[in-house]
Amino acid sequence: MADNHFDIIVIGSGPGGASLARRLAPAGKRILMLERGDWLPRSAENWDPRKVFIESAYQAHEIWHDKTGTAFHPGLHYCVGDNS
Ligand SMILES: Cc1cc2nc3c(=O)[nH]c(=O)nc-3n(C[C@H](O)[C@H](O)[C@H](O)COP(=O)(O)OP(=O)(O)OC[C@H]3O[C@@H](n4cnc5c(N)ncnc54)[C@H](O)[C@@H]3O)c2cc1C
Repeated sequence: MADNHFDIIVIGSGPGGASLARRLAPAGKRILMLERGDWLPRSAENWDPRKVFIESAYQAHEIWHDKTGTAFHPGLHYCVGDNS
């Protein structure tokens, strides 16, 4: 039977989740990190500031709504490391 017991489950591999997992790992705990996105292979395009910041080529195409119902684009990247 697979050992699927974990002491800690971290959801999301952005700066918050990754820092937390890195800090907790030396404690010897079994840590499971769940990430909804995939790895983003390094390419010339994703090292191009125009593609990343101006064309937003890697951002999730989602619209969220604030508490007043006003729509906004959250600017998230659903991939390992997220916005970092
Ligand atoms: C364009 C842009 C530029 C920025 N520039 C800077 C900067 O120069 N300096 C700076 O300090 N900050 C900057 N920030 C802010 C910084 O990126 C955020 O503060 C930081 O990414 C927040 O980290 P986080 O781990 O809390 O969340 P996120 O980075 O949002 O990470 C969340 C992670 O969780 C994953 N996830 C979400 N839902 C699920 C789910 N249901 N199951 C599993 N995984 C899930 C996501 O895919 C993502 O990987 C910038 C942000 C943006 C958008």
